[in-house]
Formats: sequence, structure tokens, C-alpha cells
Amino acid sequence: MSTSREALREYVFSLSIIDTHEHIPDEAVACADTLGFFNFFEHYVSSDLVSAGMPRASLEAMRNPDNGLSQEERWALMAPWWPHASTTAYGRAMIEYMHELFGADDIDGDSVAALSRRIVAARQPGWYHTVLRERAGIDKALVIRWPGQPVDVDRELFRAVPILDHYATPATRADLEALEKEAGHAVQTLDQLMAAQEALLDAFAAKGIVAVKIFLAYQRTLQFDRCSKAEAARAFDRVWLSQRLDLAFEDLKPLQDFMTRRLVGLAAERGLPVQIHTGLQEGNGNHLEHSRPTLLTDLFLDHPDARFVLFHAGYPWAGAVAALAKNFPNVYADLCWMPAVSPAFAARTLDEWIETIPANKIFAVGGDSNYAEGAHGHCNRARLIACDVLGAKMAQGYLSGTEAKWLAARILRENARELFRLD
Ligand SMILES: [Zn+2]
Repeated sequence: MSTSREALREYVFSLSIIDTHEHIPDEAVACADTLGFFNFFEHYVSSDLVSAGMPRASLEAMRNPDNGLSQEERWALMAPWWPHASTTAYGRAMIEYMHELFGADDIDGDSVAALSRRIVAARQPGWYHTVLRERAGIDKALVIRWPGQPVDVDRELFRAVPILDHYATPATRADLEALEKEAGHAVQTLDQLMAAQEALLDAFAAKGIVAVKIFLAYQRTLQFDRCSKAEAARAFDRVWLSQRLDLAFEDLKPLQDFMTRRLVGLAAERGLPVQIHTGLQEGNGNHLEHSRPTLLTDLFLDHPDARFVLFHAGYPWAGAVAALAKNFPNVYADLCWMPAVSPAFAARTLDEWIETIPANKIFAVGGDSNYAEGAHGHCNRARLIACDVLGAKMAQGYLSGTEAKWLAARILRENARELFRLD
């Protein structure tokens, strides 16, 4: 029996999805917000506003909850730049979810105060369940926990993925002292640093984390070279002696490379996949080249037992991610964030990935939002993209209707359920 595009769409929207990447804070944080609409400018649209020319000081004033500005005054700060950011996919996504969740028909200086009142009123205990489970159809979302944050999450909706990069990047004695505080013992030698890293990972594993995340492409190259323990120990000793930020990247790199590779090895031993930021860095002003996915090749070769998930389609290097995931059994490809950055890119990429990457290694839904509302908007986008791409592949005769449905379930749910062992 053939499946119509309509039937495919119905099936895709009936799936209970696994969202592979979010930055959603605990619900209490959202419920404590008093800003309403202007709370939604921690990232994405704010970055496009700055890219369009909005002075950073105006942005900070607009989103500072404590400076006493009225909603209208906040709007006035953004008004010259909003039209230019509202046409990007970030802007479109925000307009869509403000409409769907809070009934906003227009967002302007006349309506923003009322919209903010509706947002603050809606964000009550239980709101995450309404938005994420009931409205967005999310079974589980994997949420990032930053260095120093606990990994306890509401397990009904979430699983935690911690970033442990701070064990690779101490640059001064003060950084090591901060790690001593977290570890509860001395960190005065490389061996002690390694022991602290391993103990933290084990403590987190006991609390149910499902992966670890490497976020280092925001601050350095993804080229993690092979490096001896002796070289790393020499770098550690220089950090121990360093009272100020006076060490160059070349001085620190052996320690960073060694500790990052060690984290990969420890994660592999514990069956934890490693999610890696590749491609475009959020915000304004960074070294895109640092995030090039092919820089990770030696890591893939040297850790055949680890499982690496390359985030964000390596934007703009989605073809490189496809080639790596096709070539390496231990490399997986994740489109997270891309439905919010560019639905057109996400659709082109998914189309190409279906043709190049085995079906069990593609992840097609991750909202990458700081807000449950953003996750809702971005995940709905991801579903629509899956419908478009799979529907077109059915129309071409590339996939049967049955195969298209099966593939939809793999890339929106089953692949993540298996890799992150969510049962
Ligand atoms: Zn992210």
C-alpha cells in the first residue's frame, strides 16, 4: 500500500521524539523570569541583532531585568534592528513560537507589554510538561550541563549531558584551585588532575548522564594532537607555576590535547557517546576554522571504541560530516540547531545525508535552545523538514512509503534511543 505525503506527515507528527540537544534550564529558572518577551534574547535573535548593527550596550540594557526599563523602552532599543533580524530563520522561529504558544499576532511596541504579561503568566510549574511533552511531543530531551553545574534533572523530560572541558583547560594556579574545590582534594600534579576528572565522570555516570559534550571549538582548534604524558605533565607544571594569564596557547595545548583525549577514552570505557560542537559558533566574532570537523580525524582514528556525534552538521561543512560519518563506523551526524539556523540548509543536508550515511547514524532533531518554548519551535521545524525531505524522496521513488516512515522514526527517535541507551 502506498503512503501519501499527508499520511507521512500525520505519522511524523505522531512520533514521540528524542531531542538530542538543548540548553533548557530547570523549570524554576523560567518560572522566576519577570521580563517576558525580552527574556528570550540570551542567544540567537540577539546575535542577529548585533550582527545587523545593534550596539552591544543597547542589547545588554534591553535584556537586563534589573535596570527598571519599561517594556516600551526595551522595545525602542531594539526597534531599529528588529526588522533586519526578524527575516532570518532565528527571527522567523521566534515569531512562530510566540504566535503558537502565546497567541502573538504582531510583535511591536504597542503589543509587547501585553505579550510579556501573557508569557510571565503562562510560565508556572507544569509549563515544561505542557510545552515539551504535550505541545512538542518530546519524549526526552538531552540537556547540557555546564562546568560546575549539577547533573540532576527532571528525568520525566530530560537526560543530562555534562561538559567537562574545564579539566582540559586550566591556564593558571587559580584555575587549578577552582578544580581542587570541585574535586575536594589537591590538584597539584597531572596525576591528581586525571584522578579528579575520572572521579567526576564516574560520579556523573552514577547519576545517569547519557553522554559527554566537548565544547572547545568555541575557544580553540579541534585539532587534538597525540601527545605524551610527559609533555602534558610539563605543561601542567607550567600552569601550576603560573599566577597570571601569561601562558600562550602553544604552552597549554599539550595539556588540553592530552586531557581531552583522555576524556574520550574514559567515556568510551563507560559506554558514553561524545557529542562534539563542530561548525558555526553561536554569538558574534569567533574563529570558524577552529570548528572544522575534519580536524578531528586523528581522534577518530585513535579511538575506534569511542562513539563521536558531530553536532550542527558542522555548518557550513555538512558534506565533510557526511564523508566522515560514511567513512568511520564510530562517527555519527547530528543536525541539531540547524532547523533554527536555516531550514533550507537543514533540508538540503538531510536529503544528502540520507543518500550517504547509514540510517542508524543520522540524528535530525535537536532544538539547541535556552528555552522550552524555543525547543518547541525548533523541534516542530525539524519535523516539517523531515516531512518535506522524506516526502520528496518518496515522490522520486527513492524510498517507499513504508521506508520513509521507518526512516522518520529512526532519525527522530530510535537512533537516539539506541545510542544514548534511553530505556
Ligand atoms: Zn548547544
